[in-house]
Amino acid sequence: MTHARTVADLRSSFDRGVTKPLAWRLGQLRALRRMLTERSAVFEDALLSDLAKNPTESQIAELGFVVGEIDHTLKRLRRWLRPQRVAVPGALMPARASTILEPVGVVLIIAPWNYPVQLLLAPLVGALAAGNAVVLKPSELAPATSAAMARLIPEYLDRRAVAVVEGGVDETTDLLAQRFDHIFYTGNGRVGRIVAAAAVENLTPVTLELGGKSPVYVDGTVDIAAAARRIAWGKFMNAGQTCVAPDYVLVDRAIAPRLADALRDAVRELYGDAPAQSPDYGRIVNDRQFERLTGMLGSGTAAVGGDHDAATRYLAPTVLTGVAPDSPVMAEEIFGPILPILPVDGLDEAIRIIRAGDKPLALYAFTSDARARRRILTETSSGAVGFGVPAAHLAVAGLPFGGVGESGAGAYHGERSLRTFSHEKAVLSKSLAPDTLALIYPPYTEGKDRF
Ligand code: NAD
Repeated sequence: MTHARTVADLRSSFDRGVTKPLAWRLGQLRALRRMLTERSAVFEDALLSDLAKNPTESQIAELGFVVGEIDHTLKRLRRWLRPQRVAVPGALMPARASTILEPVGVVLIIAPWNYPVQLLLAPLVGALAAGNAVVLKPSELAPATSAAMARLIPEYLDRRAVAVVEGGVDETTDLLAQRFDHIFYTGNGRVGRIVAAAAVENLTPVTLELGGKSPVYVDGTVDIAAAARRIAWGKFMNAGQTCVAPDYVLVDRAIAPRLADALRDAVRELYGDAPAQSPDYGRIVNDRQFERLTGMLGSGTAAVGGDHDAATRYLAPTVLTGVAPDSPVMAEEIFGPILPILPVDGLDEAIRIIRAGDKPLALYAFTSDARARRRILTETSSGAVGFGVPAAHLAVAGLPFGGVGESGAGAYHGERSLRTFSHEKAVLSKSLAPDTLALIYPPYTEGKDRF
């Protein structure tokens, strides 16, 4: 089935100006907020079914997250949309210059399965705030959440301007053959390239929110137990299936054994002695991912966890030691609850290893050495840096969220989302009289070059 008709209908709504008024945008954001609060149980059940996600975690990292983005935006949208005056060079005076944000048109948002509510709806907040019509493509790999979106979005939002298209590769391929004014893709880099290639056909701008191996560096200047708790929390949330989860740890050699012990204690604190029984610990999304992950267990020795059960797709929170830098677990983004610890001889070696890989989506460091922090900021490149805490930077609406290089292009959250889905139009206005430009009109007589 082709979705040309869906896109044409949305474009017609956009062209008729349905989505432009500020009142419409605010109304849609409030309606989206209502959907997330009134029907939170539907989404919690869907997330439980897709990922065994604990309802409290679903509130914090999915539903509540989007509500937070909506509230942040509702409070500031009017101000963000005000024209911005800019200075006019003396030679062009008198004149007024400003920028205004205009909606781009019809946008496509393609989301992955790991945070299937947050990663579909947080971009939607920006797209609606900017006054666009939107096609939402949830991930087929989180089928319960996808179905809930397809059912509830049309109930709450303006059907003339927001459509949900469910499906996998075929549906997405068909969507990508349509002309959009912006494509916002979250997922892996292989498909990111397919999206970017399709977008080029229509010169459609793209935002690519991709992944990669987000490293952690730990030195001996910090409280190891506290650092281990933070690392374990960021890593094992959603069973490690988080784009900004710590992927691997580089630790100063002398404290490596202490860190492994502290991670064991932290896992026990978070998930008890038997994480398989914990209602707070998630499951691997499908058999394919489960097999990929269990295949990585041979890359080292399980200092923590390692046990797994194919029938329930349970993979214990696992810490691997004795991992060679060229082993399979270090060759690709892990995207699951396996945390390799690699001892290094200080910050120089850590920076060398980080720089040898692709630019990560996030980089975390646990050090109280100000010089080490400065060196990490200036000598490495990543989408974000977290000192003392993984993943939480994405909850700061004022910080742009996005990658660099292989981890993505473009960013969103807060005002950045509005800008991502807007065109910043330059406006110059100069009165016809007095005609100060007469000073540079031909004929180019003596002195006009010094204008
Ligand atoms: P996924 O398999 O759900 O794919 C994402 C989307 O791409 C889906 O909607 C899917 O239908 C579509 N898709 C799949 N194959 C396609 C094809 N051939 N052509 C067109 N569309 C296609 O999710 P995934 O890619 O496995 O997600 C995991 C990856 O996403 C990880 O690398 C992770 O780091 C990254 N990620 C990044 C962020 C971020 O915000 N930067 C967030 C979450 C996940």
